[in-house]
Amino acid sequence: MGAGRAYLDWNATAPLHPAAREAVLHALDTPGNPSSIHAEGRAARALVEAARREVAALAGGEPANVVFTSGATEAANAILRAGIQMACSLIPGAAVPVCPVIAAGIEHAAVLQAIDAAGLPSGYRIGVPVTAEGLVSAAALLAALAEARAVAPAQPPIMLLQLANNETGVVQPVSELAALVREAGGIVVVDAVQGPGRMDLDISALGADVLFLSAHKFGGPKGVGAIVFARGEVRLQRAFIAGGGQESGQRGGTENVAGIAGMGAAARAVRAVPEAPQRMIQLRDEFENRLNHLAGDVEIVGKGVSRLPNTTCFAIPGLPAAQALIAFDLDGVAVSSGSACSSGKVKSSHVLEAMGMPGWVRDGAIRVSIGPTTGMDELERGLASLEKQLARRRATGQSASAA
Ligand code: PLP
Repeated sequence: MGAGRAYLDWNATAPLHPAAREAVLHALDTPGNPSSIHAEGRAARALVEAARREVAALAGGEPANVVFTSGATEAANAILRAGIQMACSLIPGAAVPVCPVIAAGIEHAAVLQAIDAAGLPSGYRIGVPVTAEGLVSAAALLAALAEARAVAPAQPPIMLLQLANNETGVVQPVSELAALVREAGGIVVVDAVQGPGRMDLDISALGADVLFLSAHKFGGPKGVGAIVFARGEVRLQRAFIAGGGQESGQRGGTENVAGIAGMGAAARAVRAVPEAPQRMIQLRDEFENRLNHLAGDVEIVGKGVSRLPNTTCFAIPGLPAAQALIAFDLDGVAVSSGSACSSGKVKSSHVLEAMGMPGWVRDGAIRVSIGPTTGMDELERGLASLEKQLARRRATGQSASAA
């Protein structure tokens, strides 16, 4: 990392991959509009279509089923607010399909707020509890599906399911849960944002009808993402952004060619290093061993269940995250806390709350997230800062009680 800092916040955003940077710069110098038929236009179109192939390959899908967006937030909004044709076709004659939507409280704000903004009739938004480890259980999902059937017997429920949580790294058993949703005639939408480069991603293996991605989480530029449909018959019911018919009529507006090209290059780069997750697991495990050594009373969230290989969310009694983040930053270490992803503020995490975590864990949760180029030296720097903070706390006599 530049300027001698340790960047341990890859779940917030990954540094731009050099190949993505190169692709962005090349695309910026390609003057054509991808919708123009002249040579310049065709050159820009070629960049977009090459990226579409790369993103499709990353998700195990078909290029024709990829729609580029401005990111995962737009993708979630498009899916929830424009509707899914497949759902519509299951309700003959309905002009606007209104389906019950099932989602757990651990979903990203992009999803939760998009559901809020969808203007669902009362009773159509169905929550599903998670276990203390942050998992949606089969039993809880079956209960939610039954509730959906009671509310709207003729409409297929739409299940929003996170592949992996950005704060805790906890990985949902998506394919198992998706099978239950499918059996109930429902539709599975997967927020796969934290997946690429960290775990295998295959839309068919997941059993998803739709998934969405954000480029900057895996080395692409910020402000570009994609919706990937599993099959040709699954589409948005209408363009969420109305315009000139771009993206097969699914998303209006001249394509962000540079961003899309960068996303394509990042997707290609991810697939070129399939061994990256294994390397990250080793670093993460070493980091967590050292963490346990430094603070025997550390709570590592989701430790007992399947987690992303790059994420450690931990809390130490008596160490409030708000202060720790500043101390880490002053020591040249970038980490994160709670869901401060967009707000720039440290606020209590709705994810940890949904998991029923006690107040001291919610107030103290610090997220360390690494990437394929992270070195142990960066993690050492984080540990050294933490050691200093703990020593300072002891010296000032602060209580380490887990009140
Ligand atoms: N979903 C998850 C799991 C995320 O981590 C994020 C970003 O933090 C998003 C959705 C939203 O992505 P973006 O802000 O790039 O639109």
